[in-house]
This record gives sequence, C-alpha cells and structure tokens, in this order.
Amino acid sequence: MKLKTKIQLFTSLVMLILVVLVNTSIYFLFYKITADNELEQLSVQTNAIVETLNTNDEIAEKEVLRAFLPVNGMIRVIDKTGEELIPTITKKKDYLNLSYKYFDSEVHEIITDDILGKVAVITKPIIWEGENIATLQVSVQLVTLSETMKTLFYVLLAASLSVLIPTVIAGNLLSRFILRPIKLLINTMKRNTKQGEWVKIKLDNRSKDEIFEMEMTFNEMIEQLQINYEKQEVFVSDASHELKTPISIIKGYAQLIERRGESHPEVLAESVRAIDSEAERMNQLVEQLLLLAKNKEDITFEKVDVISLSEKIIKSFRDTNDREICIETDLDELIISANRSQIEQLLYILISNALKYSDEVIKVFIRKQAETVSLRFVDRGVGISKTDLEHIFHRFYRIDKARTRSTGGTGLGLAIAKQIALAHGGNISVESILDVGSTFTLKLPIKHD
Ligand code: ADP
Repeated sequence: MKLKTKIQLFTSLVMLILVVLVNTSIYFLFYKITADNELEQLSVQTNAIVETLNTNDEIAEKEVLRAFLPVNGMIRVIDKTGEELIPTITKKKDYLNLSYKYFDSEVHEIITDDILGKVAVITKPIIWEGENIATLQVSVQLVTLSETMKTLFYVLLAASLSVLIPTVIAGNLLSRFILRPIKLLINTMKRNTKQGEWVKIKLDNRSKDEIFEMEMTFNEMIEQLQINYEKQEVFVSDASHELKTPISIIKGYAQLIERRGESHPEVLAESVRAIDSEAERMNQLVEQLLLLAKNKEDITFEKVDVISLSEKIIKSFRDTNDREICIETDLDELIISANRSQIEQLLYILISNALKYSDEVIKVFIRKQAETVSLRFVDRGVGISKTDLEHIFHRFYRIDKARTRSTGGTGLGLAIAKQIALAHGGNISVESILDVGSTFTLKLPIKHD
C-alpha cells in the first residue's frame, strides 16, 4: 500500500471513529434526557389522576379517567387477574392491541410498538371503587420524540459528512504535501544511481522543517560522495600513470635485448640492471600504495619510546648512507602511546627525505611540550618554494620529477606520513626556504592511559 493511501486511510478512519463516537453519544444522551422528561410529565399526570380518584367520590371514576386522557394517549385499569376493569379509554384504536398486565408496583417505561412507535407507559397501583387494588396504566405516544430523534439523526448525519468530507480532502492534501519532497528525493536518488550524475535537490526558501533538514543532509551526502569519488578517480589515474612509466621502461629494455642482446652483451648487462631497478621502483610504489590503504584500518596503540626509536632508525641510516645525522634532546626517554611500526614508518619517511634532498648534516630535535612531543627534522638542502609547499603532502606530488626519479621518490611518502600523524591525533607542518633548507615538524600527543 502506498504511503499516500496509508496517510489518507489513517486520518479518515480516525476521524470517522471520532465522529461516530461523538454523534452516537449525542444521539443517545439526547434521547435519554427527552424520554426521561416525557416520562416525568406523564408521571405527574398519572399522580394527578390518582389524586383526583382518591379525593372525588362524587364523580364517577370512569369520568375522571376520561377527563384526564392525555392527547395521543390511553388509560387502562387492570385487575389482579390481568383483566380490564373498564374498557380502554383512548381515541386511537391502535392502543387496543398494546399488551397490558397487572403490576403491584409503580413502573415507568418506554416501549416500542410496531404501529404506535415509541410509547411512554406509567403503571401505578390504585384502589378501585374503594375496595380492590388495581393497576392504572397511562400511556402516551411519543410522536414529537420520534420526530425529533429522526431530525436529530439527519442533522448528525449531515454534520458527520460535513466533517468527514473535509477530513478526506485534508488527508489527501497533507499526504501530497508531505510526499512531494520525498518523491523528489526518490527521483533524484534514481537519477544519481541510474545516470551516475551527482544531482542535488534544489532547496528553495521555505521553513526549516525536518524535510528541509533531510534534503540538506542528502545534498551534503552527495557532495561528500562526489568529492570522495573524484579523489578516488584522481588517485587511481595517478597510480596507474606512475606504474606505467616503469612498465614502459621495462618493456623498452626487453625489446632492446630482443633486438641487440645477442650481438651486444654490454646492452644485455645494462638492460638487466635497468629492468631490475625499475622493477624495484614498481615494488616500492606498490608497497607504498598498500601502506596508504592499510594505514586507514583500525590501528592498535602501545607504549613507544620516541627517543630510542629515533636513535635506532638514525643509526640504521648512518650505517647505510655514511651521512651525519644527529639527535638533539635533553630527554633520555619519552614514552608515548602509538603504533610502533607506523611511527617507525613516519620517522623513516621524514629522515630519508631530508637525506634525499640535502647533502649536509641533518638534525633531529626532540622536545616535550606539555602533553605533546615535538620532533623537528632540520636539513640544509634544496628547500621548497612557497607554491610547492602547499602541495607536497598531496599524493604523487613531486617537485622535481627528474630529480626525484633519480633519488627513487614516488611522491607518496609525505602523504603517508601525514595520514599516520593524523591517525595518531597529531600533525606535520613544514617551513622551508628554497636553496637554504627545510624543517619538518611532527607533533604527536603523548596520551598515557
Ligand atoms: P618523494 O617520494 O618524491 O620524496 P614525498 O611525498 O616524500 O615524495 O615528497 C614530496 C615532494 O616534496 C618530494 O618530491 C620533494 O620534492 C619534496 N620534499 C620532501 N621532503 C623534502 C625536503 N626535506 N627538502 C626538500 N624537498 C622535499
């Protein structure tokens, strides 16, 4: 069942139940009050008859009864055996068929007769002709009550319809009003999935209700999806472009070997070296791409001594590069809560960059500042221009492609470093002057639990 039908059905049904309940209560309450009123009046009249019968000995009882006969009414006197003591006094023959019996107590009731309709009946014991107890039955046909109830029925029916019809129309309008933006949202979603577009909902100047909020959230979601999708696209195209270069070089050397390898053994040796180095480069690139993807996974934290870890990495660089790298710190130990292998990776990237892009001494300053550890990697190398500074943390961004190629750079190192720092709740910043040198500052929270 459609939402629109559901809303309409629900509102109409609730209204119908309410109207029926209210109107039925009004109808029966009115009936009871009026019927009680009629009975009360008839009771007063009956009492008057009884009084007159008791006090007037001179006038014949039959005459008294005839005098008190109500309009549209009937009077009967019934003896203990259930027989009429005098013929029924009435102007309407239809009363003759009305059932009767002897009662020794007073009864007030409204009965329904097939021909007469509603009839009020008062039954009261009397002393008949000064000796026998008999039952006086005074009845009156409730002509006005029946008519009034009929009129009331039609009035209430008309009132119910005049409430129900606008309710149905209002339900229809309400469902349309609520469903219009939902339908629009569904259509926009369909366009986005079927046609691969990034369609947003037009937000006009209307009240900021929940539907407006839903549309705004949808637009924000589409915007975010588009940004992520485009980033992903750029990443994939950059990655494939980066992989293409070593592949085409390998292919070139393979063709060279095929053409001249046999006759020129020196070509063979050179080509194998080049193929090996390009394969190594591809390996490095793939490893870094995997790192980028892996670093996004949940990381586990442990206690890591930043001082000893930095010393260990620097020692391994010193051993393999024969370069001067020194640590400057007043601390013997500085324990932080971090992921050891990621921090190792981060230090490795920053120190190897400093090595790649400078020839002089490299200094690493480690300081504790309140709840943060600050590591500054200072080199006196090529430096970075102001325009390049904005981009160096972007994936695949390399300032001098020819130079980084010879130094084995992929343009992913700083992007990985930044990602790790952010995952640890820290950050990396850089200050640099072209041809003077660069300072990369890594800040990490200490966070002891
Ligand atoms: P790469 O693998 O090319 O070094 P990175 O992401 O680590 O990639 O660095 C991006 C670019 O930033 C490098 O290509 C390089 O031009 C520049 N860069 C990084 N570190 C330094 C530094 N210490 N001195 C000068 N330039 C640097």
